[in-house]
Amino acid sequence: NNAWESVINIEEEVSNKKSPKEVVEFSRKAFTAGKTKSLKFRKAQLKGLLKFLEECKGDIEKALYKDLRKHKQECHMCETEVVANDLRHTIMEVAKWANPQKPQKRLVNLLDGVYRYNDPYGVVLIIGAWNYPILLTLGPLVGALAAGNSIILKPSELAPATANLLAKALTKYLDKDCFQVFLGGVEETSELLKEKFDYIFFTGSTTVGRIIYQAAAKHLTPTTLELGGKSPAYIDESVDMKKAAKRILWGKLINSGQTCVAPDYVLCNKEVQDKFLQHAQKIITEFYGRDPMESPHLGKIITERHFKRLVEFINPENVAIGGKYNSSARIISPTILINVSPDDPVMTEEIFGPILPIIIIKNAEEAIHFINAREKPLALYIFAKDKSIQNLFLNNTSSGGVAINDTVTHLITENLPFGGVGESGMGSYHGKEGFETFSHQKSVLVKDLTDLTEMTLSVRYPPYSDIKISV
Ligand code: NAD
Repeated sequence: NNAWESVINIEEEVSNKKSPKEVVEFSRKAFTAGKTKSLKFRKAQLKGLLKFLEECKGDIEKALYKDLRKHKQECHMCETEVVANDLRHTIMEVAKWANPQKPQKRLVNLLDGVYRYNDPYGVVLIIGAWNYPILLTLGPLVGALAAGNSIILKPSELAPATANLLAKALTKYLDKDCFQVFLGGVEETSELLKEKFDYIFFTGSTTVGRIIYQAAAKHLTPTTLELGGKSPAYIDESVDMKKAAKRILWGKLINSGQTCVAPDYVLCNKEVQDKFLQHAQKIITEFYGRDPMESPHLGKIITERHFKRLVEFINPENVAIGGKYNSSARIISPTILINVSPDDPVMTEEIFGPILPIIIIKNAEEAIHFINAREKPLALYIFAKDKSIQNLFLNNTSSGGVAINDTVTHLITENLPFGGVGESGMGSYHGKEGFETFSHQKSVLVKDLTDLTEMTLSVRYPPYSDIKISV
């Protein structure tokens, strides 16, 4: 019974009705008119977004199944509920966040007003990735709406059913002047990026992140880059291996490994590897049955190009578990590779599929050295019961985030900002951090006009003198 069911068909292609220039001009006009600024409007938009998630649940599931063969539970657990939780929290808190903050005053400003205002930036562009096409578009949208911006959303062309759904349906739940969806791939996005935005929020690969950053630099547009990379998982001998293996394989295999914070590879010693492998086979069978290729719980690889790239990583000589694939269905069975060298192709780029290589190291120090010799990862996973081992990694490595004895869930932990560092990105969001990301902190001083203040100010006015310097 939702508002648009009768008119929507996710199979049908949607095209942009406006040129990039027109889209941006339209958005700017809406922002300049001041429509987005009131708290009432912001809250109504946030509630509209929540309503979309609730009323269009079935169609979101259909679209995510079509694009990624995503199971309903994964849609709920990893996409819609994460956004809905952020929304509920933001609706409750936005009035408090939007209020000008009053920092502590020094003696010299005692009679003045000293404020930090949170101004919306203006026209915001959000570019999403395909792997979590709801979470990575609507997640940033929560902060951008709460902060009172006028928004253009560019979903990924590689998840077309979800992109069409957003263009056709979400636009009916939000203000049509202040929220627009612009569709397209490289060519259309390149054209769009020539326009001037007040903020760009990008989720995607490090390679494209560089292109976005360069385009933003032309207009000095502030930017958040949520990028990728290889997130390592260190397993220490002190850990409960059954739990560690289960948690690592869950994080690796949700969405068939197409998760920015999936553990990319494992670092452990030879004895730990043997124990890990003993548990891994059992866990994979528990998760996906005897033949994971037949399991409805394993997603598909997004495109043929991505599938071919992944299959090339599977050197049969290295396969300890799995290694099977079905080209027509684009499904790869959970695969663990051993005797892998750091120079093998699987270790030189982000994997982004259900393939987990194990690299043998002697101890924690060698693992830290291995991590620090590479780009800063988006996530670092430490599986260790021993606190001194946990602290060794925390104090001697740099990564976007860390989860100890779990994978992925630091991303959905309330009150923790999410973002990368170095090649894995810059800036962060979620909850209050999302609101702050899309707000410019404007410093405001309201000077007192009394004679007393004027008297204290007299020292700053010319004519200058040595006496005034010493005051
Ligand atoms: P991508 O960089 O190929 O594409 C992301 C977006 O950029 C898409 O909307 C796409 O249309 C657009 N785009 C692609 N090429 C472009 C170009 N030349 N000019 C302008 N725009 C262009 O990334 P992807 O394949 O969609 O996603 C996978 C990557 O994203 C992985 O590296 C993954 O780790 C990363 N990722 C990061 C996060 C995070 O939150 N940090 C989340 C998901 C994915």
